[in-house]
Amino acid sequence: MTTNKNNLTTSWGAPVGDNQNSMTAGSRGPTLIQDVHLLEKLAHFNRERVPERVVHAKGAGAHGYFEVTNDVSAYTKAAFLSEVGKRTPLFVRFSTVAGENGSADTVRDPRGFAVKFYTEEGNYDLVGNNTPVFFIRDAIKFPDFIHTQKRDPRTHLKNPTAVWDFWSLSPESLHQVSILMSDRGIPATLRHMHGFGSHTFKWVNAEGDGVWVKYHFKTEQGVKNLSPDVAAKLAGENPDYHTEDLFNAIEKGDFPSWKLYVQIMPLEDADTYRFDPFDVTKVWSQKDYPLIEVGRMVLDRNPENYFAEVEQATFSPGTLVPGIDVSPDKMLQGRLFAYSDAHRYRVGANHQALPINRPRNEVNNYQRDGQMRFDDNGGRSVYYEPNSFGGPTESHENKQAAYPVSGVADSVAYDHNDHYTQAGDLYRLLSEDERTRLVANIVEAMKPVEKEEIKLRQIQHFYKADPEYGTRVADGLGLSVPQQIK
Ligand code: NDP
Repeated sequence: MTTNKNNLTTSWGAPVGDNQNSMTAGSRGPTLIQDVHLLEKLAHFNRERVPERVVHAKGAGAHGYFEVTNDVSAYTKAAFLSEVGKRTPLFVRFSTVAGENGSADTVRDPRGFAVKFYTEEGNYDLVGNNTPVFFIRDAIKFPDFIHTQKRDPRTHLKNPTAVWDFWSLSPESLHQVSILMSDRGIPATLRHMHGFGSHTFKWVNAEGDGVWVKYHFKTEQGVKNLSPDVAAKLAGENPDYHTEDLFNAIEKGDFPSWKLYVQIMPLEDADTYRFDPFDVTKVWSQKDYPLIEVGRMVLDRNPENYFAEVEQATFSPGTLVPGIDVSPDKMLQGRLFAYSDAHRYRVGANHQALPINRPRNEVNNYQRDGQMRFDDNGGRSVYYEPNSFGGPTESHENKQAAYPVSGVADSVAYDHNDHYTQAGDLYRLLSEDERTRLVANIVEAMKPVEKEEIKLRQIQHFYKADPEYGTRVADGLGLSVPQQIK
C-alpha cells in the first residue's frame, strides 16, 4: 500500500498498525522489545529537546536520609529496609511536569517526586509523583499525551483544546484529571504534598516469596494548597517560589519530612481484585489494602551546586536493588526504557558515574569508554567476561524473582475499563467547598476549548463518574449533559 498524508507512518515510512497499545505478552504480560514502533516512538521522543528534560525540566532537589521505623523484612530482603533504625542517605528531586526549565513553580500540574536511595547494595530510585495515579496506562500514548501539555507547534502557546481533546478521547485519564483539577493540583510548597510510587512494584523476601507493593510518602508538614488566584500572583511575582521555599526551609534548619507507607497485595489477588492492580490510572483502595508504615524520610541538606547535583541527577524506575522488582504495569515497563534512554541522551552514557548518581558502594563491571568517561575507565583491569584473571562475577542469588507469563503476543489493551468508579469515589469524598472549587477549576480550564464536541465528550465522563459532577461542569460551561448519557 502507498501511504498518504492520512496514514500514520513510522519514521522509515511504513504504515503503523497500532498506535494506542504496545505489544505485550498477553494483556498483562511485559512489553515486548520486538515492538519496534514503540521503541522508535519512545526513543525519538526522548530526543526532542536538547539538553533540558522533555518532562520534569524545572526541578528542585535536596539531600537527606531515610530511617526504617517498622520491620518489613517479611516482605522484602532489600538490605536498606532490613532493620528498624537503619539509615540510608538519599537525594530527592521535585519538579513540575510540563513547563520549561525556567517556568513558574506555582502552576496546576502534577509534581515529580523522585527519590534516590544510596543503599549498600546499589542505588534504588523511586521515581513517582505527588499523585497516586497517572493520566494514561500505556507508555505508547506518552509522547502524544505530553505533546498536548506542551506548546502548539504553530502558536508556541499552550493549547487547552489539545489538552481536553486528548483527555476526552482517553477516558482512563479521568481519575488523574480530577485530582489535578482539585485543590491538590497546586501544592502550597513542595514540603506540603504527599508522594507516591504510583506504579505497582514487587517486593521479594529472603525466602524468595513475592508480594505486590505500592508506595505512599505522607507529608509530616500536612497537605496545604494554593488557591488559583494566589498561585497566579506568585507565578508572576516569584516564578521560583517553591524552589526558594524548599531551599530556605532547609537552610534555616526546618527540615521537611515524610512518613513512608506501603500497601501490600498478595500476588494471587492480582487475578481477582476488582480493579487491575497494574493499571496506573487506578489506586488500590486503602480499605482493601491498608497502609503499613515503613520509615521516615528527612531532607536536611541543600545541594552545593545546582547543576552538578539537581540538573545532573538521573533517576529511573529500573534502578532497583535485590528484593525490589517491577510489575507488568505497561506504563512502568515503558518507563524502564524511556528514563534511562533520556539520561543517556541528555547527560551521556556514563551518567551513572557522575558524583550525584554514583552509588556509594563499589561498582564493578565491564563497561568501558563512551563520551565523557571522566574516571579511570577501569584502568588496566580485565575488560571482558568470562575471564581467567579474577574479574568480578555474577551472584545468582540476586537474580530477579522468576514469574510465569502466558498469552498471545499482540498489541492489546487492559481488560478492565471502568474509568469512572474511582474518579467518582474521589468526587464523593470531597467536601462541598472542595467540589465547588474542583468544578470551578475545570470550568475555567475548559472554557477556551474551541470545539463544543470536545466539551460535551468530557462532560459525559464527569457525569459517568458522578451525575452531580457532570451536571455541575455542564452548568458552569452553559451546556447540557448530552441526553444519551442520562
Ligand atoms: P480511603 O478513604 O481509604 O482513602 C482516601 C484517600 O484519599 C486517602 O489516601 C486520603 O489521603 C486521600 N484524600 C483525602 N482527601 C483528598 C483530596 N481532597 N484529594 C485527594 N486525595 C484525598 O478510600 P480509598 O482508598 O477507597 O480511595 C477513595 C478515593 O480516594 C480513590 O478513588 C482515590 O481517588 C482517592 N485516593 C486514594 C488513594 C489510595 O491509595 N487508595 C490515595 C489518594 C487518593 P490523605 O487525606 O492522607 O491525603
